[in-house]
Amino acid sequence: MPLVRELIKTDAENLESEVSNRIEKVSGSVTLFIVDMREISRILARSEQAKSSRFLNLAGKLLLEVCGEQDRIYRIGDSTFGVLLTGIESIVHQQMAAEKISRLKNDAIREMGAAFNSNIRIGIASYPEDANNAIGLIHKARIALESAQLLGKNYVIYSKNSASDVSTKWNLQEELAAAILANKFRLHYQPKVDTKTGRPIGAEALLRWTNEEGVAVRPDVFIPVACDIGLINELTRYVLTTALIESAQWPDIGHRYNVSVNLEANTVHETDIQNIVSSSLSIFGSDNCDLTLEITETSLLEASKQNFRCLNELRAMGVGISIDDFGTGYSSFSYFKDIPATELKIDKSFIDKILDSDKDRNLVETIVMLAHRFDLSVVAEGVETADQLEALKQMNCDYVQGYYLSKALPNNEIGEWFAKHRA
Ligand code: C2E
Ligand code: CA
Ligand code: CA
Repeated sequence: MPLVRELIKTDAENLESEVSNRIEKVSGSVTLFIVDMREISRILARSEQAKSSRFLNLAGKLLLEVCGEQDRIYRIGDSTFGVLLTGIESIVHQQMAAEKISRLKNDAIREMGAAFNSNIRIGIASYPEDANNAIGLIHKARIALESAQLLGKNYVIYSKNSASDVSTKWNLQEELAAAILANKFRLHYQPKVDTKTGRPIGAEALLRWTNEEGVAVRPDVFIPVACDIGLINELTRYVLTTALIESAQWPDIGHRYNVSVNLEANTVHETDIQNIVSSSLSIFGSDNCDLTLEITETSLLEASKQNFRCLNELRAMGVGISIDDFGTGYSSFSYFKDIPATELKIDKSFIDKILDSDKDRNLVETIVMLAHRFDLSVVAEGVETADQLEALKQMNCDYVQGYYLSKALPNNEIGEWFAKHRA
């Protein structure tokens, strides 16, 4: 019988019957590797969609090399493969096969001439050890894959522990989806203050969610989950409209407020963020506030031409662009000249150190100078002491934000805060 060296395209239902057939035909154990190449495909698609398709075809061909006569390989999604191997009797063999698949991925990247490396995720489960039929086997391999994604590992072999981590994540996803539909979120606002005058200039809107058990879940925990379940745009829309509606009610401080809203990295290139922003502004924009969108430095570093175009269009609508967490992403100097930003926000980790040594202080001072040369205003975030504030004043840092001035406050308190500090 000839070797089966062909890629079988299938969908979720067909996969079940395919795997079921193999389990019946093959004597002994069958191991399913679900190989997720989404990360690489996404990076390649940013520069050119065709590159991503070429890579996936190439990766599929290379994966066939791990297949023997009894084995099968399925293309089960845009960038996901199922590799069904027979006769893998031990965990060591499963690990070796996973390592081999990872190496093949490296070969595919190299053959494409791409100058990056990125991870694939593999979930592994075996029949009859982990499941006694095809549906169970696919389900367990998917759980292992989720676990690999959750732990940031190249591969995970199914176990009860991985199942429990993943079920916690799936519960969080369900709870979050329900909370988004039921609008269970609130915004808090952290004031931004002019370093020289000590007067407020505006605030950053920060999302708050208290779950059904009354536990406050941190935004850096639930925002990535909202991205995973495809509901991040709903949250962004909520934050934009709420911030515009609520800030319109804030007291007169003698000038327009600057209201900052955080944008999740991936939404800049993957979604129609301009439409969300422009429709929010046209419906809810008011005379007393200017909008700034904060985008992390790391996401800007990955930015493609398309992202820059999107940011430029937002700028053209009169929206400010702030580079958040600046200093954590290793920007090169040349990056300053093209970036369509208006503000640079120095990451808290730098502010924490400015009083420690001349070197740390010089570093922040240089960032401020450089930003000013490129017409960017500078915000220092996470200012916790009067000494830090004084040092930042000496360095000509324009604005400050941090617990020393105020933590983020609910809407009914931020108005009072502004009224008290406007003089
Ligand atoms: P971020 O944008 O860097 O926001 C600053 C975080 O630092 C906030 O935490 C804020 O409460 C905290 N912070 C402010 N001043 C101080 C200080 O002096 N000391 C200390 N230790 N912390 C301070 P929070 O609200 O938990 O937000 C964490 C992250 O979650 C944010 O980091 C942002 O990346 C994300 N996030 C929050 N709200 C949103 C949102 O509406 N949309 C998106 N996409 N992300 C959001
Ligand atoms: Ca921010
Ligand atoms: Ca930040």
